[in-house]
Amino acid sequence: GFKMGIVGLPNVGKSTLFNALTKTAAAQAANFPFCTIEPNVGEVAVPDARLDKLAAIAQSKQIIPTRMTFVDIAGLVKGASKGEGLGNQFLANIRECDAIAHVLRCFEDDDITHVDGRVDPVADAEVIETELMLADLESIEKRMQNLTRKIKGGDKDAVQQMRLLEMAQAAIEDGKPARVVEVDAEDAKAWKMLQLLTTKPVLYVCNVEEESAGSGNSQSARVAEMAAAQGNSHVVISARIEEEISQLEADEAEMFLGEMGLEEPGLDRLIRAGYALLHLQTYFTVGPKEARAWTIKEGTSAPQAAGVIHGDFEKGFIRAETIAYGDFVALGGEQPAKEAGKMRAEGKGYIVKDGDVMHFLFNT
Ligand code: GDP
Repeated sequence: GFKMGIVGLPNVGKSTLFNALTKTAAAQAANFPFCTIEPNVGEVAVPDARLDKLAAIAQSKQIIPTRMTFVDIAGLVKGASKGEGLGNQFLANIRECDAIAHVLRCFEDDDITHVDGRVDPVADAEVIETELMLADLESIEKRMQNLTRKIKGGDKDAVQQMRLLEMAQAAIEDGKPARVVEVDAEDAKAWKMLQLLTTKPVLYVCNVEEESAGSGNSQSARVAEMAAAQGNSHVVISARIEEEISQLEADEAEMFLGEMGLEEPGLDRLIRAGYALLHLQTYFTVGPKEARAWTIKEGTSAPQAAGVIHGDFEKGFIRAETIAYGDFVALGGEQPAKEAGKMRAEGKGYIVKDGDVMHFLFNT
């Protein structure tokens, strides 16, 4: 599955947000087995209204959303890259994540101490990014030493890695995160394998006071500007509101949202933004037993998509019977779609589209 690491300075609202995320998931336990893997790791359901619609049409007994993992990575402070505040463990946790949700304090509250005694989300973002850049520099230098030996031994992969590390090093020494480096398609895999912290895509989460949950405030506007300049994304959220909503029943939550003038929980937007950030898509399997959503990367082939369900599906892949989501809904289900000629037989080269309803045929 895909993993988002929640980072940020102390007291910005990370835990509040993480608890809200995981409690909401727990409330859906009826059709979604929430699981806490570790105290700071939780899986959440990806909200998708299309899945409910498909299930209603097919009269599926069970609805199983696709999931995303969130990791609460506390303890990142100024000096973390030097090993202060157990920094290195936290950096290792970030390394394992696919993307970073960077929580920034945009709320004023004199009762909640800010580590630097002032509310300045743009400066906070720089503090964390600088730590991540310093950590990258250190690991780049270490790896370069090892590679020098391998290159002498004639290792071609080592030559490629060295070249990529030099590109990353140059960017960081120029004061920029490694994600600004543009790599060629043939280097993309090796680049990703380097697992540099500052190559991970970033979603800024602006934690604003309750009253600003809908519109944002002047601080979140500054973050929006910074994010746009960097090519990163941002969402505005009130962790406090999300925490309250997560404790309510579904109908109460809807009323509460209405009173706050909000259309949907911020967490839904957060999860969707994470999905977009990682270039993820959803396809569906739909039958009388269950309607289920599955996560794939954009550009995934039909056999690879089948492999998300089970490795054997990918190995023995023959073809996929596919109905576009729009056709399935407009025509009223699999049988009518088939009769209307909207069920396609797709082979190994088919690139799955977002919303496809799939049925895989495979050899065992
Ligand atoms: P963490 O250290 O980043 O995990 O921060 P916490 O989630 O523990 O939050 C630190 C403190 O800030 C707690 O007392 C929270 O209740 C409070 N807090 C979090 N979000 C908000 C908010 O939106 N408004 C206000 N006023 N306080 C908040």
